[in-house]
Amino acid sequence: MHHDPNNIFAKILRGEIPCKKISEDSYYCAFFDVHPKATVHALIIPTGNYSSFLDFTENATNDEIIGFYKGVASVAAELGLQENGFRLISNCGPDGGQEVPHFHIHILGGEKLGRLR
Ligand code: 5GP
Repeated sequence: MHHDPNNIFAKILRGEIPCKKISEDSYYCAFFDVHPKATVHALIIPTGNYSSFLDFTENATNDEIIGFYKGVASVAAELGLQENGFRLISNCGPDGGQEVPHFHIHILGGEKLGRLR
């Protein structure tokens, strides 16, 4: 999967289309999913242009990887999800159901989530 600079999340990163932003730093940008699948549904994307989980883990620097995942944890805390818990999902490639080719992690929570299948 190649990174397409015109994908919707790359456009959000560049500020070309709006989003309901939660927080950001030099490693990540977090915003709410436009079609929430749970009471709380956030998306966290790295600020670098990586198409998928595999692209990110293979090609990002260690600093980028650590900074990004610490960002995911800080967003979960910011959303008040530490005590009751939450679910992280990263769809990767066609079988994973990835629709947007810019690596992202979903944070789902704010309610008791059902089983995955
Ligand atoms: P994927 O299937 O690639 O893991 O998930 C893509 C997610 O992006 C979906 O949950 C979808 O609702 C969300 N999404 C698609 N377009 C937009 C958009 O323009 N803005 C926001 N905030 N979320 C989007």
